[in-house]
Amino acid sequence: MGIIIDQNKCSGCGLCVKSCPFDVIQIKSRKDENKLHPRYKNIAVILEGCTLCGACVEACPVDAITVTREKKEPAATIKDYKGIWVFAEQQDSVVQEVALELLGKARDLAGKLSAEVTAVLLGDKVAKEADRLIHHGADRVILVEDPVLKDFLDEPYADVLCHLVGEYKPEIILMGATTIGRAFASRVAARIHTGLTADCTDLDIDPQSKILLQTRPAFGGNIMATIHTEHHRPQMSTVRHKVFKPLEEDKSRKGDVVKVAYPGKIVSRSRIIDIIKDKTQQVNLTDADIIVSGGRGLGKPENFELIREFAEVLGAAVGASRAAVDANWISYSHQVGQTGRTVAPKIYFAIGISGAIQHQVGMRSSDVIIAVNKDPHAPIFDIANYGIVGDLFQVVPELIKQLKK
Ligand code: FAD
Ligand code: SF4
Ligand code: SF4
Repeated sequence: MGIIIDQNKCSGCGLCVKSCPFDVIQIKSRKDENKLHPRYKNIAVILEGCTLCGACVEACPVDAITVTREKKEPAATIKDYKGIWVFAEQQDSVVQEVALELLGKARDLAGKLSAEVTAVLLGDKVAKEADRLIHHGADRVILVEDPVLKDFLDEPYADVLCHLVGEYKPEIILMGATTIGRAFASRVAARIHTGLTADCTDLDIDPQSKILLQTRPAFGGNIMATIHTEHHRPQMSTVRHKVFKPLEEDKSRKGDVVKVAYPGKIVSRSRIIDIIKDKTQQVNLTDADIIVSGGRGLGKPENFELIREFAEVLGAAVGASRAAVDANWISYSHQVGQTGRTVAPKIYFAIGISGAIQHQVGMRSSDVIIAVNKDPHAPIFDIANYGIVGDLFQVVPELIKQLKK
């Protein structure tokens, strides 16, 4: 790897100097550099700190600069990476629901790869959770217990997982797109030099290449992009809570629990002094069985009362589209969608909501979707199980009346 300036071609014009984002090119006298030329007095010289970014190559009008990089062959070692891992995020020594959802998806992917599913459980006194992971789809649980791992801390968790990846070489690692998972996955991916696709809304296996297909919204949610990690392993993805469904717990499932000792002492430069629970998020949309969401079709904030009344009759939680939240009709904690909550209730009512893709990614895993919209072509009807085309101000009061009966 390196950068070479062809001294026979360089005219010392200085165009490359301006192009270098790291300011490491200087024009010097050829005499001083002992690189004489019959026509040109000056020459470009590369200083220390060149990152081989290649910006100067494009800038040079006479093609005097060549950057050579190590060729990234699809590593032969890629074949050594086998199996699907799910990071079994735990809080207060209890495995979080998102890990069980990921195990369900991992089983589906494992079927297409003929691979094993491993849950990686890090913590202190968490061994009791291993069986639950097996009952939800893990073939094996890798367990690392240490007092330092009791609560999540970036540094020791990353040290341990990077060590495990080096030892066992998993092909895929899935983590919840939670506060913990987001911080953890990115740190690990950077450390082990692999790709990470955050906030995936779907995962699949390419039938030919057997590469993980990681789908997520891109360009502000205007397109759904499917991302491949072709040349590096493991392939890493984070997925939000409620995007996938966990498998039914099967207490007859058997699996192995492998206790791994980290070589050396697990250390952390930071420590948790106290954990203060956020009591401001009172709306528990994520766990609700029924959600009634209202959108811009309601027309004005007062009309949200209709949604609240309907929700009360059903014993449901109240959700909203971003348009309603942005208009200040209801607080952000009610927002469902890409930049709000991801929900998967048994029944989701979308009232006066068009069903933009950014809304859909937050609710389309609901068991039953019922949409009320006056526009028969509204995209919400593409995913609704039941669609009522009509004026919500007539439909919803009638539903309330009938339900009250
Ligand atoms: P509209 O699209 O205006 O739809 C209103 C619907 O109400 C229409 O279909 C109309 O036919 C119907 N209607 C009107 N009057 C009546 C009536 N009387 N009876 C019945 N139906 C009626 N959106 C989200 O919801 N959540 C997100 O997290 C989110 N994140 C985003 C992130 C990004 C980066 C971007 C760019 C956008 C995001 N959006 C999100 C916005 C999204 O693109 C839509 O703009 C938004 O969902 C539209 O909200 P809406 O369906 O309430 O409004
Ligand atoms: Fe500067 Fe990049 Fe050229 Fe190196 S390769 S000299 S960093 S522009
Ligand atoms: Fe030399 Fe090319 Fe840089 Fe001009 S742009 S100084 S010719 S290397």
